[in-house]
Amino acid sequence: MTHKILIANRGEIALRVIRACREMGIPSVAVHSTADADAMHVRMADETICIGPAPSPDSYLSIPAIISACEVTGATMIHPGYGFLSENARFVQIVEDHDITFIGPSAEHIRTMGDKITAKETAAALGIPVVPGSEGGVASVEEAKEIGASFGYPVIVKATAGGGGRGMKVARDEDEMARAYQTARAEAKAAFGNDEVYIEKYLQRPRHIEIQVFGDGQGNGVHLGERDCSLQRRHQKVFEEAPGPSISPEERAHIGGICANAVAKMGYRGAGTIEFLYEDGEFFFIEMNTRLQVEHPVTEGIFGVDLVREQILVAAGQPLSFTQDDLQINGHAIEVRINAEKLPEFRPSPGTISHFHAPGGLGVRMDSALYDGYRIPPYYDSLIGKLIVHGRDRPEALARLNRALGELIVDGVDTTVPLFHALLREKDIHTGEYNIHWLEKWLEAGGLE
Ligand code: ADP
Repeated sequence: MTHKILIANRGEIALRVIRACREMGIPSVAVHSTADADAMHVRMADETICIGPAPSPDSYLSIPAIISACEVTGATMIHPGYGFLSENARFVQIVEDHDITFIGPSAEHIRTMGDKITAKETAAALGIPVVPGSEGGVASVEEAKEIGASFGYPVIVKATAGGGGRGMKVARDEDEMARAYQTARAEAKAAFGNDEVYIEKYLQRPRHIEIQVFGDGQGNGVHLGERDCSLQRRHQKVFEEAPGPSISPEERAHIGGICANAVAKMGYRGAGTIEFLYEDGEFFFIEMNTRLQVEHPVTEGIFGVDLVREQILVAAGQPLSFTQDDLQINGHAIEVRINAEKLPEFRPSPGTISHFHAPGGLGVRMDSALYDGYRIPPYYDSLIGKLIVHGRDRPEALARLNRALGELIVDGVDTTVPLFHALLREKDIHTGEYNIHWLEKWLEAGGLE
């Protein structure tokens, strides 16, 4: 493949993409802000280019800076990682207009799935079960109240442009509706510049189950099973596993088949994740992410495939290296997200890493851009590493996680590691009996004390 890949991202995910490029013999280009001149992804790439000052709107989010970086370095493809410009349809359009290959789906598919109302309508039309709720946007408090009365409380008001758990408010009864509706709209306006909201039935104790899909853009689609990402704080995932402890092989084949068919029918290209809430044996679509997910390594662990490599192959017009029948689950994988945050408030804790030691041994993977002496810049998100373990079964994976966490050394800043030590002492984590509210309730009840 005569390509050169520019990675429009930073941190562990930039490093992750560089690793795939290396193994495929494809030259890589790291971009960086002035704050990241000493970052690990910059050290590891074949070429590097500074694209602007520290604030991300002037660097990692600057479309002109990234396009210019491609022109200067002769990069022929862009991998967007996750976050930043990865789900920005305008960016993808501009990339393609410059004859650069975007490693991801078409601008049109990103646009469709980026608007949650359109995404839900599209999913329903493709035979994917969705959460019951309003048909389209809700224009007034009165309409919101009518919908609340017809579906029955509680309901959740959600931003159609939403992401990252923002612009979402629960109304438990009619009295709470006006406030929930107005707050969700105001938050959506502030965060996304678009205050359109819609309403869904609020499920009381669902699990968050997401299906990894892949399309070749030519009418073929496969699924790589599910990940259970129910352990969340403020709608942000902290612990993810595959396969889901509550999902049977029959359920996996059923919902996976629906999702694989949907991406095939759409002509979808590349990796995607179809997210569901799962309650009492039923799946309800909430959204589709048209990019690689933070938690993709657990899927890689149980299927033994390199998802970034597949993304690159498909973007280059080549077929996927596996078929649905090739994909057999082997064992169990768990990922924990290690953030530079001070507990119990989860307050960002940037600073200098005085000592870093990554755990190793059988079935342990540490995706991190840390090194001794690294200064964590205060400008970006607080994820500093992902610890992923793989075992023959769930108990072995949990034991391995415990062992690996014990080996990990991150000195100099506070991290979320104590959270995982504490979680591993909980019976529910070992039995797999948790839902999307478990972690918040446990924290409220003083789980960390
Ligand atoms: P975002 O794009 O902001 O991440 P999602 O639609 O993916 O928003 O929802 C994020 C999380 O919010 C879900 O994983 C779940 O915990 C909660 N959530 C969303 N919709 C509902 C719902 N209808 N009922 C209960 N919880 C919900």
